[in-house]
Amino acid sequence: MNVSDKFKERGQGISLEFFPPKSPEGKGAFMKVVNELKAFDPLYVSVTYGAGGTTRERTLNTLKWIKEETDLTVMSHLTCIGATKMSMRVLLKEYQDNGIDNILALRGDPPMNRPDFDPTQGEFKYAWNLVDFVKKYDYFSIAVAVYPEGHAQSPSIKKDMEYTKQKIDAGADFGITQMFFDNRYYYDFLDRAAKLGITIPILPGIMPIVDCKKIVQLAAFCNASVPKKVLDRMEPVMDMPEEMRKLGVEYAVKQCEDLIKNGVNYLHFYTMNRTDSVSEILKALRIERR
Ligand code: FAD
Repeated sequence: MNVSDKFKERGQGISLEFFPPKSPEGKGAFMKVVNELKAFDPLYVSVTYGAGGTTRERTLNTLKWIKEETDLTVMSHLTCIGATKMSMRVLLKEYQDNGIDNILALRGDPPMNRPDFDPTQGEFKYAWNLVDFVKKYDYFSIAVAVYPEGHAQSPSIKKDMEYTKQKIDAGADFGITQMFFDNRYYYDFLDRAAKLGITIPILPGIMPIVDCKKIVQLAAFCNASVPKKVLDRMEPVMDMPEEMRKLGVEYAVKQCEDLIKNGVNYLHFYTMNRTDSVSEILKALRIERR
């Protein structure tokens, strides 16, 4: 089912993001996680796509498992730099043949081991090229990534918003934010978006902190800041993994409560393929189980 129809059907809800297991042997453990979190009745679940198409088969297979074993609505992340239009047509046909009708259209990042790689030299340069390409099928609901603190390579917040508007205008049905740990960034982004006439739903991406050191590294790569007040609270439990995870849950619950209080209806969770933190957060928020 198209996620845009889900939004029409349900005025509130959550979505869950997973990454594909490394090998087919990981299927059992992965589906256990999906089946446990399924109880929270997500609007859709999404599966990430490795930079440069490195998980093309794994992502597709993971989406197929979810479709075969559950009644969940699925969405594929899809990156376009380095891809050709022909390879994209082949993949999109496979998605259609398998009833996968939701795409998060992304540019992707250059491969880590190719410092010379120029994303603007291929057949797809930016995410908006992929949105435009996928839109022509008139089959997929299309999501795009948005950045409350600006994308790392954007020259300025103003330019970032112009490019965000360009990819939304190319045919995006909704946006999902990069992780952020201070809701003010999200609210400011919504204000800027409203001023540009952006009206599609923008789902806040919530990342429960499990390992603070790793999050700080990841956040730096993603141009997301971790507030000092969070780091100060985490500091005494840096060597106590379970205490740190619990604090991460507590922080994410507060973040979500504030979002809900401020009228946010949809929340997107980066699950990192774990059930514990996200289910504790959803229980604390009293998100209905089915
Ligand atoms: P774009 O929107 O194309 O933007 C990329 C850069 O180009 C930005 O700096 C932008 O300002 C600039 N730009 C855009 N348009 C123009 C233009 N017309 N002219 C000049 N400059 C322009 N990565 C993965 O590899 N796999 C995933 O599964 C994945 N999932 C993600 C999920 C979410 C929710 C988010 C937020 C990110 C995800 N990413 C994923 C990361 C994403 O691929 C990177 O952030 C990537 O660097 C940018 O992708 P984009 O689609 O936002 O690119």
